[in-house]
Amino acid sequence: MPVTSDEQVNWRSSIPFLGLHLVPFAALWTGVTAGDLWLCAALYLGRMFFITAGYHRYFAHRSYKMNRTMQFVMAFGGATAAQKGPLWWAGNHRRHHQFADTDRDPHTPLKGFWWSHIGWILSDKYSATDVDAIRDFARYPELRWLDRHDWVAPWAVAVACFLAGGWSALVIGFFLSTILLWHGTFTVNSLAHLVGWRRFDTPDTSRNSWVVALFTGGEGWHNNHHHYQSSCRQGFVWWELDPTWYGLRLLARLGLVHDLRAPPPRVLRPQPPAGRAEPDAEPEPVFAGAGRRGGG
Ligand SMILES: [Zn+2]
Ligand SMILES: [Zn+2]
Repeated sequence: MPVTSDEQVNWRSSIPFLGLHLVPFAALWTGVTAGDLWLCAALYLGRMFFITAGYHRYFAHRSYKMNRTMQFVMAFGGATAAQKGPLWWAGNHRRHHQFADTDRDPHTPLKGFWWSHIGWILSDKYSATDVDAIRDFARYPELRWLDRHDWVAPWAVAVACFLAGGWSALVIGFFLSTILLWHGTFTVNSLAHLVGWRRFDTPDTSRNSWVVALFTGGEGWHNNHHHYQSSCRQGFVWWELDPTWYGLRLLARLGLVHDLRAPPPRVLRPQPPAGRAEPDAEPEPVFAGAGRRGGG
């Protein structure tokens, strides 16, 4: 499937994004402390959680619930990762599922690894928020504000890093973790459709990959996810590491989120022969959270 004429990379507007990849080399002058490396790791893991739990599993898929304040906290946390605003991110991701691996999928790897990983972000075609895809959340003015001013949250973190640890904390703690976070997240769009194995015979190319799951807080079980998008849990068996799910279970116990959706048992059974689909009668287990404990 070829990249179309309106999907060419805009090299001019991409210069700042590509140029930021050189910033960590400034460590040759600033030096690196152990504290900078710890900060880098903490900002990678913490912000990855906001992306996977917030931008992906909540805003794109509505796989659990929370109140409006927590919703803003999740959105702001996600925005600190410098992956644009929650409405832009989740709107494009909904289109990915809606049109997975067709010519209307924003980042199908059928147009090449490079396109799915980063090319689609560098083209002008997908730079605007697809409001039609995310009307349910676009009605919140605070989310629209965050989407329009998507630079505020990452800048706030960058300034905090500088004030806390000086130049090296900014270069390694903030910039290096942000770049790693970009490419960690991007592997879900590229590698998770190219490497790994398939448990479910989905109509797309999604795959389950340990490697991707390890770097993305459990988003590597992407074939599971494409098969059962509404599930908040993406690792379907105990050995499918899913730290985002564990983190959300913890937040549910603290009463901060609730009604986490898990896959129904039928999803884990072998697929019935074609033409003999099982009825959807089985109720879906819901992990209700503090005080309202359910299954899951
Ligand atoms: Zn998804
Ligand atoms: Zn996918």
